[in-house]
Amino acid sequence: TVKTRFAPSPTGFLHVGGARTALYSWLHARNQGGEFVLRIEDTDLERSTQEAIDAILEGMNWLGLNWEEGPYYQTKRFDRYNQLIDQLLAEGKAYKCYCSKERVDALREQQMANGEKARYDGHCRDSQEQHAADAPFVIRFRNPTEGTVAFDDHVRGRIEIDNRELDDLIIRRSDGSPTYNFCVVVDDWDMGISHVVRGEDHINNTPRQINIYQALGAPVPEFAHVSMILGDDGAKLSKRHGAVSVMQYRDDGYLPQALLNYLVRLGWSHGDQEIFSEQEMIELFSLKAINKSASAFNTDKLLWLNQHYMKSLPADEVAKHLAWHFEQQNIPLQNGPSLEALIPVMAERAQTLKELAESSRYYYEDFEEFDAAAAKKHLRPVAQAPLELVAQKLAALQEWNAEAIHNCIKQTAEELELGMGKVGMPLRVAVTGAGQSPSLDLTLLLIGQARSVERIGKAVE
Ligand code: GLU
Repeated sequence: TVKTRFAPSPTGFLHVGGARTALYSWLHARNQGGEFVLRIEDTDLERSTQEAIDAILEGMNWLGLNWEEGPYYQTKRFDRYNQLIDQLLAEGKAYKCYCSKERVDALREQQMANGEKARYDGHCRDSQEQHAADAPFVIRFRNPTEGTVAFDDHVRGRIEIDNRELDDLIIRRSDGSPTYNFCVVVDDWDMGISHVVRGEDHINNTPRQINIYQALGAPVPEFAHVSMILGDDGAKLSKRHGAVSVMQYRDDGYLPQALLNYLVRLGWSHGDQEIFSEQEMIELFSLKAINKSASAFNTDKLLWLNQHYMKSLPADEVAKHLAWHFEQQNIPLQNGPSLEALIPVMAERAQTLKELAESSRYYYEDFEEFDAAAAKKHLRPVAQAPLELVAQKLAALQEWNAEAIHNCIKQTAEELELGMGKVGMPLRVAVTGAGQSPSLDLTLLLIGQARSVERIGKAVE
């Protein structure tokens, strides 16, 4: 059965690149009716923080990438890693290396000066030298020196490496802590991972890890290495290109559905389809259709998708996310229309939830001042008569609905022999404070009868 995982190192927030890797891994599990595991790779004690763990969990939850197992923590599994390292030592598949840091550094420098690839020379591999009982040592994996190691990557095809190019990897540091390449293998084995989906920055580790699986007598999983995400200038996506943290996208007013749709298409395609519901992603996803080449992040496209989802998702779904932005911006939601009523009217006019909230404040809160330019153009002094007449008509309405509101405006224009705009624009400025809003009947409908009449009264004072 298929089991995949996402294995972030908690050294920072959840990056969009990490989120895309997580999404692909999750989609493969879902597509295959398999399971998804979350594992926190916190063996780097210096750089791992609880804050980063919380941020990763928050990001995964916000995106809706749920897991069947975990989160597992590598720091809770040291006994297991050490047990297997001891076993490899006893079997002669690993050895103690007493080389000083100075020796290894000098070796590396010399190799680099000679234009060679830096690699450990195997000095302690078969050494009979005796060492003091308290002499510090690391443990190295005895990598095969002959033959090749090969795997069929789901994205990149067959990859084959000569064992002579690999050196003997440190699997336990001198402080007794096991290293990444070893822990990953033990975890993926113990957790029954069938497919390792991860960033291509790990592709050089894979042949080394395969040798470790083999030494442990463990089955080797399948691999899919996903390409990088680039910024619009072709450099690896980073902060200087804009937001890179998943939660920053929430703060900026994106829907998780839009970000997921954006990320799934960034490096994967199904014909020329652009819009994928979660169900469609799950049904159509395949590792084989992931692009080999790097993909460039395009904020305009993300904005386009975001607006698409703001308009097309059920309003109650959008409302769940919009409510958070109202809270952030201190807009008193209880003082105005329901978000379900607001969203269909306003979604057209904003690209993000943040913008939508910002531009909806007048439905919930009286404004202090009119937009100066709009007021100058539409309000004074010409608008006195139409505003007074339309206010009378609006106040007299028995039923507050869009059609009745529209008729009041129309009749006012007819009675005063004015164009609709000569009534509508002053009215708009009077009730919203500014020169732009959705159609007047809907705007007034949402603002409400009493509040609309009151605002017109204030505008003609
Ligand atoms: N912890 C590694 C990282 O954050 C991922 C390791 C893996 O997926 O095998 O880059």
